[in-house]
Amino acid sequence: MKDRENMEKKDVFGLSLEALQDLLGTYGFKKFRAKQVFEWIYKKSVFEFSKMKNISKDDINLLEENFTILPANIKILREQISSDKLTRKVLIELPDGNSIETVLMSHDYGFSVCISSQVGCNMGCAFCASGLTGFVRNLSQAEILLQVYYFNQHLLPSGGFVSRVVVMGSGEPLLNFDAVLGALEFLHMETTLNMSYRNMTISTCGIIPGIEKLVIKKLPINLAISLHSARDDMRSELMPINKTYPFLEVIKAADAYAKATGRQVTYEYILIANKNDTLLDAELLSNALRFKNSSVNLIPANPVEEKGFKRPSPHTVERFLQVLKKNNINATVRREMGKDIDAACGQLRSKFIGKNS
Ligand code: SF4
Repeated sequence: MKDRENMEKKDVFGLSLEALQDLLGTYGFKKFRAKQVFEWIYKKSVFEFSKMKNISKDDINLLEENFTILPANIKILREQISSDKLTRKVLIELPDGNSIETVLMSHDYGFSVCISSQVGCNMGCAFCASGLTGFVRNLSQAEILLQVYYFNQHLLPSGGFVSRVVVMGSGEPLLNFDAVLGALEFLHMETTLNMSYRNMTISTCGIIPGIEKLVIKKLPINLAISLHSARDDMRSELMPINKTYPFLEVIKAADAYAKATGRQVTYEYILIANKNDTLLDAELLSNALRFKNSSVNLIPANPVEEKGFKRPSPHTVERFLQVLKKNNINATVRREMGKDIDAACGQLRSKFIGKNS
């Protein structure tokens, strides 16, 4: 009953200050009052009107009768915390019953959130659990912002806050371009989290038209490309999108992005035993990236049970890394976080759906 009542109310989360002032104005609220509401939500991560201390009781009643604030209108279906306590993953149920995964990571330099951009994904990357449940829908700008503010709300009492976001969770962000960019631009505003674009990363499987749109935007957002092989046949096997956007064309588009923004492009490379981890693979990758403003992030495979992929030995990983270094390619092996909590994208959701279907 409560859920149905909420569905009939307008949700104000993710509206710009001007849009909130216009909307609340139609209910008789003055602009300064709407600004106070805006500040409670986006500066203090308060999502219940009744906790907005400088708003009168009558105004609170009117707000509660007519509006909701999305983060107060969700359920947490599952939560996993890694044994080192540095990674916290939640499965959030949205008001329409769909669920999304979001991960909070604690680093020396602060907190970052890995956000999802779609419910499910239809890119079909072979190493990824998100595709197992198929694509359902794009997330709205508010649903993307929700993932950051959910954690911010929990961090604020102890003086913490989310200072970085990586759009690297479930979904292909460049196929939901407007909502993703809208959310990042929102987080950048001084009146919200004032987050630097340099602290934001978009990770794509290589949607060239989306990269081209980013070139036009020319914001200093970090771009990460999931490459995973510099052989067309192997990359097509691991990432079917390679048949539409071959990796050499993707690298060309990413290079244009690096030139337009001055930002170094990161290439993600999951090392899968006996698939893409040979010396020849390392040489081909070096050739493809030679003289590019780029770096390579090697990620020893996080096994996805359903696919049977294995992780290469530490010796193989080191050997691959040394070939890249010898060829003057910037490369590092990613520090693993949350391996014990299904941190690879889509794993928690696919397990939850599997158990509840
Ligand atoms: S890796 Fe990313 S693009 Fe590929 S299936 Fe998973 S969520 Fe989709």
